[in-house]
Amino acid sequence: MVTVHEAVFLRACVQPAGFPTTGFPEVAFVGRSNVGKSSLMNLLLGRKDLVKVSRTPGKTQTINFFEVNARWYFVDLPGYGFARVPLTVQVGWKNLIEAYLTQRTALRGVVLLLDPRRPPTELDCQMGDWLDAIGIPVIYVATKSDQVSRAQRLPSQRAIVETLGLTADEAPCFVSAKTGEGKAELWKRLDRLLQPPRLP
Ligand code: GDP
Repeated sequence: MVTVHEAVFLRACVQPAGFPTTGFPEVAFVGRSNVGKSSLMNLLLGRKDLVKVSRTPGKTQTINFFEVNARWYFVDLPGYGFARVPLTVQVGWKNLIEAYLTQRTALRGVVLLLDPRRPPTELDCQMGDWLDAIGIPVIYVATKSDQVSRAQRLPSQRAIVETLGLTADEAPCFVSAKTGEGKAELWKRLDRLLQPPRLP
C-alpha cells in the first residue's frame, strides 16, 4: 500500500483563479453531504482530522487542495444535495464544481462516494452520468461499510451497479473509515490512476 509520509492542507479556493498550477496529478473526491467524504480522505491520508469532519453538513463551499507526498493533490469538492442550502448557493457550487471538473488538466479521476445503505440518489446518478459524459475516470466507493452487514453487501452493490449503470469493473469498493476496511484496495485503484502515463 502507498505510504503517506506527508499530507498538508494547501488552500481553499472559491474560484478557479485560486487553483494551484504546479501540475501535480490530482484526484478529486465528491459525494452528497454527510456521505463520509472527510472521514474517508482522512483514512487514506492516515491523519486524524486533516480534512475537517464536518459537524454541520453543507457548510464547505470551497474546493480544498491537499498536497500528498509532495507529488499529488487530493481535492475535496463541496458536498452536494444538502436541502437546507439556499438555491443561489447551490447554483454557485454547481458552477464552481463544473468549472473545476471541466478545466483541470491535472485531474486524473474522481472518487464518487455513495451511501450503500440506500439506493443512489438522483444527484448521484447525475454526477456519475456527467463525469462519464466528459470522460473523467471514476472510482466508485461505498462508504461506512461497517454499517452494511455481509448479507446486505450483494444487494447493496447490485443496487448501485444497476442504478448507475456501471460495468463489472466499475463496481464500488466498500470502505469504512471506522474499521479501515477497503483502504488498501482503494489506494491500489488510486495509485493506478495517479501513475504517470506509460510512454508508447
Ligand atoms: P462528509 O460530510 O461527507 O465529509 O462526511 P463526514 O466524514 O463528516 O461524516 C459524516 C458522519 O458520518 C460523521 O458523523 C462520521 O462520524 C460518520 N462516518 C463517516 N465515515 C464513517 C464510517 O466509515 N463508518 C461509520 N460508522 N460512520 C462514519
